[in-house]
Amino acid sequence: VADYLRDPFTPYVERPAIQDDPDVVIVGGGIAGLLAGAQLRKVGIERIRIIDHAGGVGGTWYWNRYPGVMCDVESYQYLPLLEELDYIPTERYASGEEIRLHLQAIADRFDLVSDALFHTGVTRAVWDEDAGRWTVHTDRGDQLSCRYYILAVGILNLLKLPAIPGMDDFAGRAFHTARWDYAYTGGGLGQPMTNLGDKAVALIGTGASGLQCLPPLARDAKHVYVFQRTPSAIGVRGNRRTDPDFGASLQPGWQKARMDNFQAIMLGKQVDTDLTDDGWTHHYAAVQNPPRRDKDGQALAIAEFMRGAEELDYAIMEEHRRRIDELVSDPAVAAILKPYYRYLCKRPCFHDEYYGAFNSPNVTLVDCPAGIDRITAAGPVVGGTQYEVDCIVYGTGFEAEVTPLQRRAGHEIVGRGGVTLAEKWADGAASLFGMTSSGFPNMFVMPAPGQQSVVTVNYTQIAVLGAEFVAGTIAALEHKGVRVFDVDAGAEADWIQQIVDTYVDPSAVMSACTPSRLNNEGDPGATRARDTNYGRGFGDYFGYRDLLEKWLASGEFEGLTLQ
Ligand code: NAP
Repeated sequence: VADYLRDPFTPYVERPAIQDDPDVVIVGGGIAGLLAGAQLRKVGIERIRIIDHAGGVGGTWYWNRYPGVMCDVESYQYLPLLEELDYIPTERYASGEEIRLHLQAIADRFDLVSDALFHTGVTRAVWDEDAGRWTVHTDRGDQLSCRYYILAVGILNLLKLPAIPGMDDFAGRAFHTARWDYAYTGGGLGQPMTNLGDKAVALIGTGASGLQCLPPLARDAKHVYVFQRTPSAIGVRGNRRTDPDFGASLQPGWQKARMDNFQAIMLGKQVDTDLTDDGWTHHYAAVQNPPRRDKDGQALAIAEFMRGAEELDYAIMEEHRRRIDELVSDPAVAAILKPYYRYLCKRPCFHDEYYGAFNSPNVTLVDCPAGIDRITAAGPVVGGTQYEVDCIVYGTGFEAEVTPLQRRAGHEIVGRGGVTLAEKWADGAASLFGMTSSGFPNMFVMPAPGQQSVVTVNYTQIAVLGAEFVAGTIAALEHKGVRVFDVDAGAEADWIQQIVDTYVDPSAVMSACTPSRLNNEGDPGATRARDTNYGRGFGDYFGYRDLLEKWLASGEFEGLTLQ
């Protein structure tokens, strides 16, 4: 399957191995790594090397260039550092290419590209006790010695390929959405895929990626077979061009305020105005925070609360199902497209052209709730029917929330006394603040879901906070003349205990869900309490941020030992 990982966007160029001793190595040049780099530049760190498997910066947005790629989180919050870069996104929801170019602009502004090592994978990082530095080895034979090691490896970096019998027998071209092969399809982002006019395409997967591909595929291919295992809940997207007066109306600090407004709504807090005003703030926030009191302000009994929550959820799902009836002309097709589970069982999607594509005569929906039987040289087989195609697109997603850091990092990280991160985290995450770990001196991990920090629907918000914390801590350590810091075992144990104490097993709600990566593929009880967040559920973002800011401001480095 190695071919599925090949970079179709940038040619691989041989280069000599390097030896170097930068101040900081950042593994990952996506949003988190770039923000960490930008904040480190701001506090005066000069020698930074980003290492990435990709041929350039952008992370998720480097790899995901499938036709129709876009972000369904509002662009004014999702694209980071808009104020610093004096940039206003052109649309309410940005295309993948606009996001990628913005991330490239951040990398250029903060000079993060010239020393970066692209098309390079870290194979091993070892703490060198005598030197008080990390030694980082790569698959190009490089050897770097750095004072600080920062893991910004991403949460959508491992492709998920299904294990369908016969995949290798397929005689046509097959690729994953995160490695779109424009050399095969023709065209490019926003341009017609000129080679597909005489080709039948199988699209496997109907999550956020798969559904975004469908309208362009329907436009350009001779025929598209959409293989749906579970229908997504797809709400209104309502994209529009940015009002030309929007930028002029904003006050300094507007982006943070906007992110906070969105986050407050997602956490069920009262706000004066809903600045985002979309499906996330209407539906997601409502289902996430059902009323706990009746209209007279009396606390609801648990059974009433549960029933109220279910009714609210049902009403929102009915709204989604009605929308399908309105947009899809064949009632039999509409019926198959209707999501039948609770709203938060899967990540909700937002799109305005997906359903309409099923009215095209060249689009066939293949209902396969139990998956695809097998793939032959001619294409997928479902229920004994062979679908003959020239190309298979796997929109089958990524390993995400449940994948432990050491697997996402993809290399051995050896801390004090030869203990690896995989060994240390074998029973679950072990950290202080979800960003440092005892026995791994001078190492930071950018915050991520299931890693003892918090989860934000707008991932950029937690990446910004993580980057500010990491750079702020490094600046303070440098100022104090610290050579090596480590986390006290006691402070780490206390942090872990806080995470475990606030964990509420979601099985009661999530086991009624269709399997997905959000519920351990149907086994929500298998989530380890340690692999969760600061505060209940998605975590207490504002409490977490306060705590980090106070910790930094105190200058006391509580919970760290300093040399
Ligand atoms: P995904 O949500 O995990 O969806 C994967 C799809 O593949 C599902 O429809 C799944 O069906 C299907 N599938 C997997 N194995 C299959 C098999 N053996 N046979 C048939 N179908 C199979 O992946 P994604 O769409 O790439 O999205 C991943 C994440 O990326 C999202 O949750 C989101 O966080 C992010 N994303 C965000 C945006 C955005 O606009 N912000 C856009 C794209 C992606 P089941 O549902 O039955 O498992």
